[in-house]
Amino acid sequence: MFCPHCGREMQPDGATLRCAAGEMQLSVNVYRRLSELFPHCQPRETTIACDPPKSHWYCPGCGDALPDACVCRRCGKDFGDVKMALIELHPHRRG
Ligand SMILES: [Zn+2]
Ligand SMILES: [Zn+2]
Repeated sequence: MFCPHCGREMQPDGATLRCAAGEMQLSVNVYRRLSELFPHCQPRETTIACDPPKSHWYCPGCGDALPDACVCRRCGKDFGDVKMALIELHPHRRG
């Protein structure tokens, strides 16, 4: 699964996943919810472009940058209900 903040692949850490670059660990609840929404990860073919779009979110299922609405054009999934939990409980280191 990919980090919704930066699009990098997260690594297993305990019962959930962790983004090493952002020093962000998913809570169990958010991890469960995202696992329901994105049961099958399908990594995008290309890596993050040199000129990233102005999106602030990335699809956990495929790592693609998302438009404002948090709906992935490839997966067709909307994880807007998890967005508040990500903002409030999952600070992501910048840079
Ligand atoms: Zn990250
Ligand atoms: Zn997707």
